[in-house]
Amino acid sequence: MMIFIAAALLGLIPAAIAQKKGRNAGTWWLFGALLFIIALPCAILMPSATAAAAGTTPATLRPCPSCAESIQGQAIKCRFCGADVERLAVPSIAPMQAAAPAVAMLAHPAAKAGGVLVLLLLLLATVLVAVAA
Ligand SMILES: [Zn+2]
Repeated sequence: MMIFIAAALLGLIPAAIAQKKGRNAGTWWLFGALLFIIALPCAILMPSATAAAAGTTPATLRPCPSCAESIQGQAIKCRFCGADVERLAVPSIAPMQAAAPAVAMLAHPAAKAGGVLVLLLLLLATVLVAVAA
């Protein structure tokens, strides 16, 4: 019986980390209670839900210089601590620019086969960069 109580308590640790990152705490509690050794590093290493969303939308989030909470890039006032922050410059669209030559290459019929390969490699690289970041 004690082992179940211990597992349930241990599960609270990854659950708390996951909830802080905007994930489902209940799921992570179950994960942590069953597989604590695996769930804990997963919870620590996984990107927060807000960071993941920022990678897919142009409206990027950034940490507040005053309180480090995630705020909108276009914000001029932190919604958490109320500190005045500088408006972020135009969001980076580097992955899109990197893929542009491959797209242009695809338009050329002669280079179609090679272009597909290049595009796939660029997509893979973009995904890897997004995962790493
Ligand atoms: Zn703040």
